[in-house]
Amino acid sequence: MTTNAFSKLLMMLKVYPRLELDIRFSDIILNLLSFLTIADREKETHKIQSFWQTEKEVIVTLSVRTSLDLLLQSLNLPAGSEVLMSAVNIRDMVEIVKRHGLIPVPVDISLDTLASSLELLENLISERSRLFIIAHLFGTINNLDPYAKLCRKHNIILIEDCAQAFAGSKYYGYPDADISFFSFGAIKSCTALGGAVALVGDKQLARKIKSIEQQYPVKSETWFFKRLLKYLGLKLFSIPLIYGTLIACLKLLNQDVDRVINSLTRGFSPGDILTNIRYRPPRKMLSLLNERLRTCSNHHFEQRQLNGQRFLSLLRPEIICSGRQAEYHSFWVFPILVPNPELLMTQLRENGFDTTRGTTSLTCIDYSHDKNQLPVVVHPLQGKRLIEQVLYLPVAASFSDQDLQDLADLVNQFV
Ligand SMILES: *Cc1c(COP(=O)(O)O)cnc(C)c1O
Repeated sequence: MTTNAFSKLLMMLKVYPRLELDIRFSDIILNLLSFLTIADREKETHKIQSFWQTEKEVIVTLSVRTSLDLLLQSLNLPAGSEVLMSAVNIRDMVEIVKRHGLIPVPVDISLDTLASSLELLENLISERSRLFIIAHLFGTINNLDPYAKLCRKHNIILIEDCAQAFAGSKYYGYPDADISFFSFGAIKSCTALGGAVALVGDKQLARKIKSIEQQYPVKSETWFFKRLLKYLGLKLFSIPLIYGTLIACLKLLNQDVDRVINSLTRGFSPGDILTNIRYRPPRKMLSLLNERLRTCSNHHFEQRQLNGQRFLSLLRPEIICSGRQAEYHSFWVFPILVPNPELLMTQLRENGFDTTRGTTSLTCIDYSHDKNQLPVVVHPLQGKRLIEQVLYLPVAASFSDQDLQDLADLVNQFV
């Protein structure tokens, strides 16, 4: 084979993965090696807490889902209480609310900013509304002032879900939120392959949450060791040349690529959600999270934001990139809306860009309860459209200008 043909073959095999794991090989390897020593739970937790510049209580848990469940146990709201939620969130968050006998009420979002509609929120508030969970989606962050004002007026607890919005020291959570959740799950920014932080304003509530959490069994260090190995493997496989080769092999073996990848990256094993999340984080997860926060640099977020904006400017203006009008967008992911996302997905995959529709985790909430019992029912049409038409493009912080141009060309030709 000539050099030319060989490099062409390599080009053909190269596939950019759907999402870059936001952790370095060295982070994983150093943590694996650190298993030779024992980490101190209190010390690690303390250091994680000190990252947050806040007067609030900083509670470190296994996951955001664990934190939400702990919060709902602590609040112990009467069954049938209504929980207003951004219409789009991950399935488990909705499920946890339901498991506590509460009614999720979707508040539709704007496709431009991804923020919940304030007007709708006001209309949907009833005497049974107790909480409002607002999610900053896809890396956007919007100002919560007007929501906080409305919640205060109606005595509603404001919960801010920042699971997709961590941006280093650029954002320590909205000061007037009653509770803010940050996630360091495997696909999230600055991941520690798990772990979460909840900022809680009310000290008494925080004490209650902590006292329940402390009774949970600790997720084992062995479990975390295996998890580190698994993600070391996944990180290796996400190198474009290796990833492309793997996909080609899976195809030869007649395997469904999506199914294989989803089963590998699922956070918890299938089974009862509440049983799966009621654990304390292993010590080594805490030391990894501490290390990630200690060394996390805003430069990374700036680079990702820059690439996102550069890519946006290459796209034809009629292509909807939801969240582009948000006050801040760190482009954790790059979602576009197209009428036929499956077709574009297939075309991009054939051209070396693995894309996904992420349909397994995100959902648009619908009314699950007897609608006649609710004073107002407004179906979240924008949220529905988002889920139906969204395609996540693999725009990564590491993309070169040429990569951005190639991907933009493919998308522009399609639309
Ligand atoms: C990932 C995610 C969660 C859950 O975070 P975990 O720490 O994995 O439980 C909650 N909300 C949103 C919007 C998320 O993206």
